[in-house]
Amino acid sequence: MGLLDILEELREPWHADALCREYPELDWFPGRGESVREQKAICARCLVRDECLASAVRTGEKVGIWGGTSERERRKMRPDLPPPRRSYAIPLHVENDLHRFRRLGYSQAEVARILGISPNTVVAYWSKDSTSMAS
Ligand code: SF4
Repeated sequence: MGLLDILEELREPWHADALCREYPELDWFPGRGESVREQKAICARCLVRDECLASAVRTGEKVGIWGGTSERERRKMRPDLPPPRRSYAIPLHVENDLHRFRRLGYSQAEVARILGISPNTVVAYWSKDSTSMAS
């Protein structure tokens, strides 16, 4: 099984129709205060907006534009949500890819997009990696 097969296996079915995949030049994980008007306009035309938003709310995505919303907007939609808890349970072969992408100089946002996982998960793995290398 090649890397692309593994990546495809990890993706939820709706990822295939995600319109943002056609706009890799846009920053889908903008920093605080940056304009997201263009990204939201694309989300408004996306066929899988509902699935994307539901997934982001369910997983408590803290970073990025998902389903046309920012994290702040998602929190307003679900004030009942507890603080997100993440298991970071990722198969070993994907962990290897996470470390490989890091060595190649990819950003956390790029790796998250490629692997179809949360940027927070990428950060968590990379911090774990740094800690284990230091000890
Ligand atoms: S709704 Fe989700 S999948 Fe669709 S363009 Fe926006 S971020 Fe991408």
